[in-house]
This record gives sequence, structure tokens and C-alpha cells, in this order.
Amino acid sequence: MNIPSLASISLTELQDWMKAQGLPAFRAKQVLDWRNKGLLDLDAMKNIPKQVKEVLAEHIQVQPLTLVSKQKSEDGTRKYLFALNRENQSLKHIESVLIPEKERGTVCISSQAGCVLDCPFCHTGTQKFEGNLSAAEIVAQVLAVKADLLDDPMLPELHNQVTHIVYMGMGEPLANEMEVFDSLNLLMAEDYLKLSRRRITLSTSGLVTQIERLGQDSPVNLAISLHSAINEKRNILVPINQKHDLSKLRKSLNTYPLAKARHITLEYVMLAGENDGQEDLDALVQFVNPERERVNLIRFNTYPGSAYQGSSTNVTNEFAKSLISKGIRATVRRSRGDDIMAACGQLKTAKGHS
Ligand code: SF4
Repeated sequence: MNIPSLASISLTELQDWMKAQGLPAFRAKQVLDWRNKGLLDLDAMKNIPKQVKEVLAEHIQVQPLTLVSKQKSEDGTRKYLFALNRENQSLKHIESVLIPEKERGTVCISSQAGCVLDCPFCHTGTQKFEGNLSAAEIVAQVLAVKADLLDDPMLPELHNQVTHIVYMGMGEPLANEMEVFDSLNLLMAEDYLKLSRRRITLSTSGLVTQIERLGQDSPVNLAISLHSAINEKRNILVPINQKHDLSKLRKSLNTYPLAKARHITLEYVMLAGENDGQEDLDALVQFVNPERERVNLIRFNTYPGSAYQGSSTNVTNEFAKSLISKGIRATVRRSRGDDIMAACGQLKTAKGHS
């Protein structure tokens, strides 16, 4: 039987567990009040008696992650490297990123250690796949960032809150479907992190059957790593397209449930000479449904050994203008944290593999 984890246990489960251990059930709420603030360190739980802490430490997984290092970018972005506390040490490290802005604190979380999908422009894709994260390990990334903010308030107006979550870190979330769905339910649970589905975005390379199930189970904001609207090119840039091509993707996007005034985001990384020409633009205009979708153009963040170059600022801006002139909402995403390799597609744990 799996050991329960403090990061994912519900109040009712912990109350029942406490009773079964001969401990007073009311302690469960006290423990989870600390947990919900981000604190998984039993020593920090001041109103919990030593005996309760000892039983918890012996029978429950208290800390799924250990913070190994933290880097801070000039723009305030923070990148965290965590070690997974597992008996099976073949799974080692993952990364998460905090992007602080004036009125929001967004945490970008990982759902797998490495990624199997091998998109050739992506740094994470060059890392050996080491496995899926559990729901507890996914949510514990958010808790760890909350705890870090408690220790080091940086944006007083945010009261150190994590307000938004994006599943855009390491891995393909929908390739780890069950654990990711469980983690979404934990993030949204009334007695846990209480985040509205409008504040959570899941980014996928386009696993169409899983997108449909996501729409039925937890219809959070959806982002698609599109990167080309031409099948032959997308087969190379996003190899999962060989299995789930653009026509299948189109069908699943047409039926994904949208919250009021929300759009599906089509992510499009601008690669010089690869997907930034006239035929690419024409195909993209054909593909997009402007009523339900918008395009987010991403500046390519290069990394050592990358075979790709980013499009120039001029080409990127012209591309955006052309989309807008066709009635398509298009933005150019400001890159955050690229001086610490925390920007989109750059996550790769330095200690992740040999
Ligand atoms: S872009 Fe996403 S799906 Fe593709 S290799 Fe990178 S992490 Fe995996």
C-alpha cells in the first residue's frame, strides 16, 4: 500500500487516519492549516504536540521534495531545483519557476522528470526521461514556493500569495494524466488551495484523447504547443503530431469547454527560417479559430548546443501584426528569467542525468 503523503491528503482522510492511530481527530485540521500555508516542516508547526509529530513522521510521507537550490533572475523570476524524496532514487531532480508580477504570482510546475516527447527545440526534451511525478510531488512544488515567499516577502501587495499555476515546466502533463488530474483537483479543492480553474493553465503538445478527458474532468485553461500549422513541419517540431495530427487536434479544440470570456492559447515559438515565413503565417491564419483561440508568439530562448535560432524582433513583431490584421488575437510573450535558464523550454536539471 502507498504511504499517504501530507501534500495530497484530504482533511477527512487525515482525520480518519488520526483516529486510527489513536490521535485526536481535531489535530488533522491544525496540521493541514500549516500545510495549506506551504509548511510541510513538522518543526514549524508550533501548536502540534511532539507525540503527534512523531507518529506523522513515522507513518506519513511529510516532505515529498527537498529544496536543493534557488536562483533569482534580475527580473525577480526564481528557479527552484528540488530533489524527489523517494526510495527509488532513479528519479532525481525537477525544477519549478516563480514568475512574480505586480498583481499576480504565477508558479510554473513540472509534471514529469524529463520528457519523452523530444521536441527538438526544447531543452527539457534533451533530458533523459526519468518518470512521472505523483500528485503530491506536483502540488508540493506550489507549497514549497509558498513557503519560500513566507520566509522572504518580495511583493507586499500580493501578500505572498501564489495566485496562478501553469503546467508548463518539465514534462508533458497529459502523458501523466491520472496524477495531473488528481493534482488539479487538489489545487482547486475548497479545503486546500482553492484556486479557481480560471487561474490554472495546462499546456500540452496536443494529446487529443486526454484533452477531451481534461475537458470533462477539470476544464482549466488550455494552452497548446502548436509551433507550426503545417503537418510536415509540425511532425518535426512537435513529433507527437505524427500520431495526433492537426486535423485531430482541430476537432478536440473545437469541443474543449471554455470558461466565459476565455480562449485557448496556441503557443508558437518563433524559429528563424523554420516556422516564421509567409507559408507558415498563411497556414496559421487558416488553422486558428479566432472566436475561441488566440496566438501567443514566444521568443526562442536559446541554450548551449541548440540547433535553432530565434526569429528577429522585427520578424516576430511583423508576424504578430499580420495575425492581428486578420482578426486574430496575437501577443508576443515577454521572456522571463532567461538569464537563469528559467524561461520557456529551458528547464533542464543540471543534476538530472549524466
Ligand atoms: S516542449 Fe514540452 S512536450 Fe516537447 S519536449 Fe519540451 S517539455 Fe516535452
